[in-house]
Amino acid sequence: MIQYANLERYEGNEALFDLIKMSMLSTIAGEPLHIHAEGLRGTGKTTIMRKAQDILPPIKRIKGCIYNCDPKEPHCPHHRELSAQEIADLGVEEIPMPFLEISHSAKVGTVAGSIDLAKLTDESHPEARLLPGLIPQAHRGILFIDEINRLADTAPEITDILLDLMGTKPGIVQIEEAGLPVVKIKVSVSVWAASNPDEDPGPLEEIRRQLSDRFDMVCYMGRPTSIDVLAKMLKENFHTNIHPDKDIMDEATIAKKHQEYTSSLLKWAEIYKQADIPDFVRNYIARLYVKHNLESIRAIEAMQQSAVLYAITKNRDQATINDVSRMLPLILKHRINSDTLIKVINDIDGKGESIFSSVNKSAKKTDLAEEKEYFKSVGRPLKFLGRNELINTEKSLDVNKAD
Ligand SMILES: [Zn+2]
Repeated sequence: MIQYANLERYEGNEALFDLIKMSMLSTIAGEPLHIHAEGLRGTGKTTIMRKAQDILPPIKRIKGCIYNCDPKEPHCPHHRELSAQEIADLGVEEIPMPFLEISHSAKVGTVAGSIDLAKLTDESHPEARLLPGLIPQAHRGILFIDEINRLADTAPEITDILLDLMGTKPGIVQIEEAGLPVVKIKVSVSVWAASNPDEDPGPLEEIRRQLSDRFDMVCYMGRPTSIDVLAKMLKENFHTNIHPDKDIMDEATIAKKHQEYTSSLLKWAEIYKQADIPDFVRNYIARLYVKHNLESIRAIEAMQQSAVLYAITKNRDQATINDVSRMLPLILKHRINSDTLIKVINDIDGKGESIFSSVNKSAKKTDLAEEKEYFKSVGRPLKFLGRNELINTEKSLDVNKAD
């Protein structure tokens, strides 16, 4: 069986691995980062997202609390009023960090919450109580939605709930049931979504622009194009029907790798909680907003958050302008038109008007050296890429570009 450690990594899916790492560590630190992977069927985006469960650390909650109350910060209707002593008396337990999936057949009641029928029909002690839905139960974890463009098209009421949930950090979910007072619950959850923009009903930003903007970052998943990677994948997938348990790595190696990933996430989350961004980088982000009329405050908040997260996952203690520039296409592609995106990116590379003018010179120098280093291993700088290469979708790749 494929597990996180033996997922195939190649150039086209590297950005997604980075994104899920950043979102996981941010979620552990208590700050959601909503991410959306777009790409053709068969690029493995949903597999990568689902398999991330393998490396999530456990969380501690008040014993038996279905809302996952943090013993230090109880928030649910049953525990938020209790004293520290009463909480301590209830005890704590460790559970796997939630990773829950909203299916396309889900109803409002199962997603937000509904009346607890078992409690209501209890003969000895009938009472009206709420049964939290998937979202409140995903508190402090991840909520996954496959084919979000289709969901946004066919389930507007679920989309509205998601808009509330993703509107603030932490988000809010409202549970409404006839005969019961409306209950609002704070939910800190990162929403992960996947979709294929080339299939019906089209890209999310065209179906429900507001929901699309709620995603901090979007990455477009390419297919593997390297012959080596494809040959290796073919080899590994050969005869799997005869030897279904054949693994590339043995179980012990996989377990060890997973443990390493998990402890990195925990370590990074601690660093993130204390991290700040240098003033000149923050000012630089603010300038981008003003200069290019970006409109979305969410976008520049995502630049700040993601630049810090990215730097941490690369084991650097400070985010640079380069980190911002690397995140830009992932933050802006779904929010602005491609002409503006090109302009913003060209600014970053210093080709545009002098946005660097007030930037600390020595910092810029380090950035450039580091940029050289980065592009040596990763590819060409953005400024050398043509417009088509930057705004690619699989559709444009398919058209006679098989070379
Ligand atoms: Zn609770």
